[in-house]
Amino acid sequence: MEKRRTVPVKLDVESDDAALLEDTVDEFLWAANYVTRHAFEGEYVTTSKTTLHDDTYEDVREETALHSNHVQAARNKAADAAKSVLAKWEQGKKASMPHFTSPHLVYDHRTATFHDDYVSLATVDGRIEADYVLPDEERDTPHAEYFFSEEYETTGAELHYTNGNWMLHIHCKTDVESDTPGQDATENRTILGVDLGVNNLAVASTGTFWTGEEFDHWRREYETRRGDFQEHGTRWAHENMQAVGRKEEGRFKLTLHRISNELVAEARDYECSVIAFEDLTDIRKRTGASWGHKWAFNRLYEYVEYKAAEYGIDVEQVDPENTSRRCSTCGFTHPDNRERESFECLKCGYQNHADYNAAKNIGLRYLRRTQTGAGGGEPVGVRLNSGTLNTNGGYEPPADSVGQSGSPR
Ligand SMILES: [Zn+2]
Repeated sequence: MEKRRTVPVKLDVESDDAALLEDTVDEFLWAANYVTRHAFEGEYVTTSKTTLHDDTYEDVREETALHSNHVQAARNKAADAAKSVLAKWEQGKKASMPHFTSPHLVYDHRTATFHDDYVSLATVDGRIEADYVLPDEERDTPHAEYFFSEEYETTGAELHYTNGNWMLHIHCKTDVESDTPGQDATENRTILGVDLGVNNLAVASTGTFWTGEEFDHWRREYETRRGDFQEHGTRWAHENMQAVGRKEEGRFKLTLHRISNELVAEARDYECSVIAFEDLTDIRKRTGASWGHKWAFNRLYEYVEYKAAEYGIDVEQVDPENTSRRCSTCGFTHPDNRERESFECLKCGYQNHADYNAAKNIGLRYLRRTQTGAGGGEPVGVRLNSGTLNTNGGYEPPADSVGQSGSPR
């Protein structure tokens, strides 16, 4: 069994080298988009890597100065994106041709060499070297635990440019003894389920709630003030309105950063290795959320995703169907199980807050999805306030906390 982790490492890049990396990222994105457009040309979407390679490799080599492995990585990106669009179409969902814009670049052992305190990276004009910027404390960082651990080998990396920083997300893997799968699973795969909504912005399977009050307050404030400005209708009013918009957006983001920090802290406190959200694509239809809410959910998901990566915690989305109507204890699914904020199972009588029941279901769905698939990192349970819940609805209290009270079930 393989265990994989991603360790983000900040790079110290000199300005000349940064310019080279920027050019390389630009050409990589161009290549990925070029191959994607090709995949979507014609009557059928092409997802075969071999076909896409045969059709586009020469062109991309001619148009760019990319290393041949970067050309292949860009083609793989395009093929994977085309596949995920097809998968959505097969489920009857809407999806359009992907377009890559976020600055990133895929490295493997042919294009990158990972040294103890610096990395050497291929660019469109030779190689550059960049030092790692590592946290001071030596213990308990994912760097010490995985990247510098002799048990893990480095398999590649993705370079990202975010908030003015070059970050290398380094992929590490190790082989885990397969004769003790239960033990490994207990250590490695506990899930935090998270339900997103309008009244409560987020609810975790551990029973922690983040209300939407603060968010609603700023949103109403914004809409009122925007109304005032709109009545005046002048150019001055228009500019003011945009300024208010930017200011409010900044406030929303601060709130969402705080919630995302707390969510990641919750996952760490409860030793979860996965945070599961529902798929956000159709969340407005399901929850009656406004565009503002959808915007907030997407930001929150993004923030949690990159903050969780720092601790080696995976963030995943699961199929949201019936997560609010299904009983997390017995599995009985019925629309009448739920009445606004309260959930009461018509079959087994289980009662709890509807959003909390949904958070548990989201965790359980991830658990079920990964347990039916073969191989790596089998999860054991969804984390509750104390103990875990497995797919059969079975509840296991933690061995070391006899007599804890007040834990939501
Ligand atoms: Zn039930």
